[in-house]
Amino acid sequence: NSHTHLLELDDVRSGYGETEVLNGISMTVDEGEVVALIGRNGAGKTTTLRTIMGHLVPTTGTINYRGSDISQRDVAKTAQQGITLVPEDRQIFPGLSIRENAKISEVGTTHNEGWDVDDALSLFANLEGKENRPGSALSGGEQQMLAIARALVSGPELLVLDEPTEGLAPKIVDEVAGIIADLKSRGLTILLVEQNVETAIELADRVYVLDRGEIVFEGTTEEFTADENIKESYLGIS
Ligand code: ATP
Repeated sequence: NSHTHLLELDDVRSGYGETEVLNGISMTVDEGEVVALIGRNGAGKTTTLRTIMGHLVPTTGTINYRGSDISQRDVAKTAQQGITLVPEDRQIFPGLSIRENAKISEVGTTHNEGWDVDDALSLFANLEGKENRPGSALSGGEQQMLAIARALVSGPELLVLDEPTEGLAPKIVDEVAGIIADLKSRGLTILLVEQNVETAIELADRVYVLDRGEIVFEGTTEEFTADENIKESYLGIS
């Protein structure tokens, strides 16, 4: 098969020092897809993302991006290649305004043209008219939206979202999900880590379930929805 995936993890093992967290995981993301990675607390989702981003280097296995092995590169290189992470803690600078926070990603954007700051911010009705407000004054939902806007400014080819709806009120979860759906309809490729299974299924084309550092399910969203066993055994829902 000569088909090249945008991102391909092959038998990746990774962890922290002596502690192996990922016990050989394989997964792919193709261009234009939204792929959800779900699993319980501590399953290894964030560790998977840290390994993809280059914060952690796999002990064995390979990570290919556009067919090139990127397993051994550093974080800066990953960003240059067009993989942008929106981290779980959002990392909004409290002393900078909304606009300044978004503008930060203009710096060092070498690989591709990112979104214009105004265009990125205008996706989010909640941020409208608040551009000079400091990061410290933002609600959790506003911070998440700003973190996504900032990621778009960097011009991602692959947008990696780590639990974007975590800790948000249901109405805000719907708004963030709506934006992700909008980005999907524009053709952006997204790897979505979620604890909120409902949201993940609503958005994703394909689903991977991670449990104790292993992929225990891989399939389309329809296949996942039909699989009562996987939901019960690994996610505690039925
Ligand atoms: P969560 O939803 O809680 O973030 P997760 O699926 O993202 O869960 P990880 O954060 O990847 O899970 O954690 C997987 C395992 O790795 C856990 O057992 C955790 O204790 C361990 N772990 C995470 N970070 C470190 C670290 N810096 N050093 C050592 N062990 C860690």
